[in-house]
Amino acid sequence: MEGKEMEEEVVKDMMPRLILDLGMRYPTEKSTRKYRYGLFECQYCKKEFEAVFNNVKTGCTKSCGCQKNKQKITHGLKSNRFYKTWCQMVYRCNNPKNKNYKNYGARGILVCEEWLDVTNFVAWAELTHPNIEGYSLDRIDNDKGYSPENCRWADKTTQAYNKRMQKSNTSGFVGVSYYDNIKKWRAKITVNKILKHIGLFLTIEEAVQARDNYIIENNLSHKLSTDYVKEQINE
Ligand SMILES: [Zn+2]
Repeated sequence: MEGKEMEEEVVKDMMPRLILDLGMRYPTEKSTRKYRYGLFECQYCKKEFEAVFNNVKTGCTKSCGCQKNKQKITHGLKSNRFYKTWCQMVYRCNNPKNKNYKNYGARGILVCEEWLDVTNFVAWAELTHPNIEGYSLDRIDNDKGYSPENCRWADKTTQAYNKRMQKSNTSGFVGVSYYDNIKKWRAKITVNKILKHIGLFLTIEEAVQARDNYIIENNLSHKLSTDYVKEQINE
């Protein structure tokens, strides 16, 4: 008992010491949420470093970084249900040895700075996950990386839509494409060699639905997008 108390005492003493409160700040330019930062003194090497207050308080940040390899396992988030999601995301983006790296890191799909810290990712996940089985992490824009701005939880069908549409967009086949400048999805269709603009939509699902409705209402022989989705899931 005494020994354990001593141990805790030592750990506490090694906690980074606050030098200056730096106030609220966005972790990256793209972040939508501010965090409270502080200037701390590393108790292992006496170096000064900046860190998110909460990460120091919870013990996730234990040093300026000089002890990182030594404490990789101790952040206590390993049992969190989103820990594996985080690992897989980081591996496929950052580890060239990962079998999926060619589709992610090699394509410039990166994890934003904020989410490289597992604490931030888990906090976002706990807040946003719909708590329905089958929902997994999905990037809204397939050409952009992992960040709170570009991610959501989606079921298999939505993900298949997304992938299929992105894939098709490059060929111009399905008729739904994203316009980055106005942040909207455009649905269009070619009938008798004439391009018809169906409309602009906030989500890919709406755009796809509108195009399908158009096909049905006008009794056209075009393939419905749900047919593509079925193919995708069965692949
Ligand atoms: Zn240090």
